Amino acid sequence: MPELPEVEGVVRQIRPVSIGKRIVSVDVSDTIRKSKNSGKQAILKRIEADDFQERLSGAQILAVERRSKYIYVTLKKEQEFLLVNHLGMSGAWFFVDSLLSIPEDKFRRHVHVVLTLDDGNLLAFSDIRRFGEMRVLKTEADFPPLLLMAPEPFADGAMEWFLQQAESPKFRNKPIKEAIMDGTVISGCGNIYATEALFRMKIHPKRATSRISRKRKIELFQAIAEILLESIEAGGSTISDYRNINGESGSMQDRFGMYGKKTCTICGTSTKTVKIASRASVYCPACQK
Ligand SMILES: [Zn+2]
Repeated sequence: MPELPEVEGVVRQIRPVSIGKRIVSVDVSDTIRKSKNSGKQAILKRIEADDFQERLSGAQILAVERRSKYIYVTLKKEQEFLLVNHLGMSGAWFFVDSLLSIPEDKFRRHVHVVLTLDDGNLLAFSDIRRFGEMRVLKTEADFPPLLLMAPEPFADGAMEWFLQQAESPKFRNKPIKEAIMDGTVISGCGNIYATEALFRMKIHPKRATSRISRKRKIELFQAIAEILLESIEAGGSTISDYRNINGESGSMQDRFGMYGKKTCTICGTSTKTVKIASRASVYCPACQK
């Protein structure tokens, strides 16, 4: 699942090719329409396909930003509004002159939303597993979970926020891994980067948050921010279906010390897996205490 660095990579690529452009038309796949007709809400949340087309057609793209793992596209059509997108498990954007130019067949076959821009190019959203989300909002406040997200991990005050949340009754007795994967504690850190940060810090993923000193918590927070930045530099991690808008993928996975490993990359011990917050957590029983 794309985490903060992968989403940042997508945003940095969409921004220069789309800002200032106008969306001249919008296409929505038959799969989404059928899902709507059967009462489900695949990808388009709380908006009908026709309304979605109507709202976005003719709008100008003013800004493309990342907030945690979400992409915020500020649009203007008379008034400003937001298109908020979450990539889910396998969402990917492609900037192409034709859908045939999308690099891999598996992505080409699962294009669900196509925005045609006034320069003739397309921004196409492909989503193989359809866990991605798009919402059209007047402001963030129209989707309250967005307001509960922790500050950006590189922003002033993010560490104080993290300490306050981690030491709150809600998380104090929870495994540290569960706390750092929660978007209300730290923004944008999912299973991959939580696994790597705990490995670097030699902390067992199940250790109760309250059993980690404040000094170590601060170091852990710094390790997470550092790994997220490293991964942004590396173009993100290529895990299953993550691709950037040219269909390329990042190289952070080559630097993993623990995620997806069968043996510890430091001591060679066989790794173990525990389930935490319904995600498989890999760790080294010798190095991580
Ligand atoms: Zn080890």
